[in-house]
Amino acid sequence: MHDYIIVGQGIAGTLVAHFLLQQGKKVLVIDHQHHQAASMVAAGLINPITGRNFVKSWRIDDLIPFAIQTYQQLEQQLKVSILETKNVAMLFNSVKTENDWLVRSSNPDVVDYVAKDFYVDFYKDFLDDVQNGVEFKQAGRVRLKELILAYQALLQKEGNYLEEQFDYQALEIEPNQVQYKGVVAQRIIFAEGFQATQNPYFNYLPFAPAKGDILLVNIPNYPAKDKLVKHGIFIIHLKEDLYWVGSTYNRDYKTIDPTPKAKKSLEERLSRVLKCPFDLVDHITAVRPTVRDRRPFIGQHPHFKALYLFNGMGAKGSYLSPLFAAQFVAHLEQGKDLDQEVDIARYYSYFEEK
Ligand SMILES: Cc1cc2nc3c(=O)[nH]c(=O)nc-3n(C[C@H](O)[C@H](O)[C@H](O)COP(=O)(O)OP(=O)(O)OC[C@H]3O[C@@H](n4cnc5c(N)ncnc54)[C@H](O)[C@@H]3O)c2cc1C
Repeated sequence: MHDYIIVGQGIAGTLVAHFLLQQGKKVLVIDHQHHQAASMVAAGLINPITGRNFVKSWRIDDLIPFAIQTYQQLEQQLKVSILETKNVAMLFNSVKTENDWLVRSSNPDVVDYVAKDFYVDFYKDFLDDVQNGVEFKQAGRVRLKELILAYQALLQKEGNYLEEQFDYQALEIEPNQVQYKGVVAQRIIFAEGFQATQNPYFNYLPFAPAKGDILLVNIPNYPAKDKLVKHGIFIIHLKEDLYWVGSTYNRDYKTIDPTPKAKKSLEERLSRVLKCPFDLVDHITAVRPTVRDRRPFIGQHPHFKALYLFNGMGAKGSYLSPLFAAQFVAHLEQGKDLDQEVDIARYYSYFEEK
């Protein structure tokens, strides 16, 4: 008898499995390794101040320290490098943006995140249209793909992993347990990312997935490897001369595959700002599990009490998932209350209407 089946091993399912296994639970993780899983394509940025209005990310003061602690612990356990601590260099291309920042810069919300050593002339050497900028600290990048693959290897080694597409028709639900192809578990947790829209038990929720296109490019001799540069688009160092460039954000997509239009748009945006030459290596896409009210979807099914959801990490899975996975496991195992802002109970009326 298993304690839990988890469907989906993106960053969400990985961290729920991690905290459950830490508590000695018997867990089976099922994943079909979808190549457009958001976690395998995302840059994994932890970015405390976002958007044109320089707004502090929701709950960021709690989320970042917990994320850092969790990833450092996983680095030790898995013996892989997961966390890169780097400042975000946000560059402005107009006097208006510079003025907007000046208005915000003394706000107590953002002051603690401003790095002192920003030097704009450094960026003007290799980027066009740089008016000014600011650097934010307590930022970084989580190597999500490396973490997920290492965790998958651990699950496989311990016999806790099944590679297949979960078949919802094969799930037998009883009041206090579920059965899936002969595996009996007390509870099942769905963490399928954007593919939860295909889940017959939870697709009543208002998911609003957003497709993202990114480019992988080679930029020889790029001088800002140690910064997460945002100049309209992000330019993020991955390894050697390879960089992640993106991304688009599209809720109105017709296909989840790469399109020539998005590729052209990203190439043009990069050419506009980058003075040095680059070579295109790849163009890839994935879909973010974004939701209408921009808060995670976590909790118990309104009718089937053995069914749970851990999803809705949106565009911020690398720093939302650690704290909320830990809180979710404390809810499941120690009966702690779920945060009302993330609890899917806020949408139970949608289920009743369906
Ligand atoms: C272009 C792009 C850039 C991004 N950049 C950032 C960033 O810089 N920082 C940040 O924090 N976030 C970023 N995000 C968002 C982040 O990627 C997501 O929040 C996060 O990865 C969601 O993780 P998840 O585990 O919920 O979903 P996913 O990563 O999609 O994982 C879901 C898993 O479930 C499996 N699955 C689904 N259905 C089934 C089934 N029926 N049977 C078996 N397995 C199944 C899939 O194979 C997959 O492995 C970005 C996303 C995109 C697309």
